[in-house]
Amino acid sequence: MRAKIIAANWKMNKGYHVGLTFAQALVRALEPPTHHSAQIILLPPFIHLSTLSQTLAIQQHIHLGAQNCHQDAYGAFTGEIAAPMLRSVGAQYVLVGHSERRQLFNEDNRLLAKKVTAALPHALKPIFCCGESAETRAEGGQEAFVKQQLVESLFHLTAQQIAQVIIAYEPIWAIGTGKTATPTEVQAMHQAIRSMVTQQYGEAIGQDLPILYGGSCNAQNAHVLFSCPDVDGGLIGKASLEVASFVPIVNALNEVAA
Ligand code: PEP
Repeated sequence: MRAKIIAANWKMNKGYHVGLTFAQALVRALEPPTHHSAQIILLPPFIHLSTLSQTLAIQQHIHLGAQNCHQDAYGAFTGEIAAPMLRSVGAQYVLVGHSERRQLFNEDNRLLAKKVTAALPHALKPIFCCGESAETRAEGGQEAFVKQQLVESLFHLTAQQIAQVIIAYEPIWAIGTGKTATPTEVQAMHQAIRSMVTQQYGEAIGQDLPILYGGSCNAQNAHVLFSCPDVDGGLIGKASLEVASFVPIVNALNEVAA
């Protein structure tokens, strides 16, 4: 069975003490009463990684990741952070290609290919974000657009490498807007992504690939979205910032996966 995953993108929110208190409350709220099948990945700002890796050390179902990394392993890149540094403070995952990085920091498919390649040797699993704009969808070009993102940023990887990657489909028009894609739209794109990966790497890799949905996912819509056969969980922004809004999303995935 494919991994079931909820990733929490805190973006640029929560100072040191607030983040720590929040993570502790989350751990208490998610204490496995019986069996938890959903893996939870917290993606806080860099300042939290070291402390949270200690806080979460004994939590088998809660992991840590970063929101970005540089494509080089070290060097004169003021203000940047490298994959081995992230690994050294306990990160096991890294977001690559979030639409805010693409739009606000001009990250393109070629650069993102380098970031994916840079993360893997340091045992950092990339959570690769893809997704189209409202204009592209209005023209019916969403699948071609996403395919180009995958081809240019992921399909240089070997089969062994791509097996370490998680894909997050995040239509840009749904991120932080309150406009969620419909289950039909989400399933169609997730199925298309799985089939693109299957064509490139074969049935076993395509079937094992976790594909998360992101874009205004919340306690109300999580269950129906996670019930789509090719949806393996969610990448959650706003609703991951409060225990009360995040825990029901995790519960929804656990219910669907049970
Ligand atoms: C995100 O930033 O990845 C995201 C999905 O945000 P939101 O849930 O707020 O739409």
